[in-house]
Amino acid sequence: MEEKKERYRKYSDYLKNKYGEKVYKIPINLPTTCPNRDGECGSDGCIFCGDVGAGFESLENTLSVNQQLNKNIEYIGKRYKAKKYIAYYQNFTNTYMKVDSFKKYIEEAAKFTDVVEICISTRPDCIDERYLKVLKGLENEYNVKSTIELGLQSVNYKTLKKIKRGHSLAEFIDAVNLIHSYKFESCCHLILNLPWDDMTDVIEAAKIVSALRINQVKLHSLYILQNTELGRMYKEGEITIISAKEYVDRAVNFIEFLNPEIAIQRLAGRAPKESTLFCNWDMSWWRIRDMIEYKLEELDTYQGSKYDYLKGKAVRKFI
Ligand code: SF4
Repeated sequence: MEEKKERYRKYSDYLKNKYGEKVYKIPINLPTTCPNRDGECGSDGCIFCGDVGAGFESLENTLSVNQQLNKNIEYIGKRYKAKKYIAYYQNFTNTYMKVDSFKKYIEEAAKFTDVVEICISTRPDCIDERYLKVLKGLENEYNVKSTIELGLQSVNYKTLKKIKRGHSLAEFIDAVNLIHSYKFESCCHLILNLPWDDMTDVIEAAKIVSALRINQVKLHSLYILQNTELGRMYKEGEITIISAKEYVDRAVNFIEFLNPEIAIQRLAGRAPKESTLFCNWDMSWWRIRDMIEYKLEELDTYQGSKYDYLKGKAVRKFI
């Protein structure tokens, strides 16, 4: 029987290829905050960010890293017969702390024999060489790889201002270059349907992450929470959200322009059930994923089909 051709590079396959078996991400919730919330860059946070950041699926941050890992590994290990894990420091800004504290928190996970990788979610303006040196030291001591996930959300600097990110595209480019200079992998979070962005922004995003040789991307559909500035805008009719069909078109275009080497972690977001005003057009995230996969099939297109714009495109004919 002919094997089904994958239309895009799935993160699960990417990990299987890298580690030789299935690897599971375990979320870790640290008692930290974010410079865009505590007054350093801003006080109210990004206009879409809720009180718990991205940590609505994690355990309490009052538990130690050890306790969170043990609890989750016990459950996931039994349920999926899992053997290898990525310790995923997911919530808020996980490099926004003193370097000593950072080292202590990360080393707790690096010591776990079944933890093969550390994944740190942070902001582009919150990473410098001190933190990368800590990660390099832990890689050498415990043989754990590191990936740094950077929130960007949009490549349009006007949109970044609108959503009150507190940084621009320049800081993102600088952070990616720094991360790669330490031979760590990078991941970029993007929201494909911010109300101020259009298809051109989405294609430009695919081109920029490809040009920067980012290793992984995580695509989110916008969700709108109560008690956020975005929630207020939504209720007062100041913004409109594109249709699910348009989101699918944007995702397909993004995939076509994306370097085929880049692994795609996610095609749509998930939101906490309580206090959500809008999420995925009232469908589950996997329904959106299926719609995107179906569209790729229907158009008989695939990741990188339009990835032909780098490395001196216009003069290649002289080679
Ligand atoms: S950077 Fe992240 S944690 Fe900070 S306000 Fe924005 S979304 Fe929330």
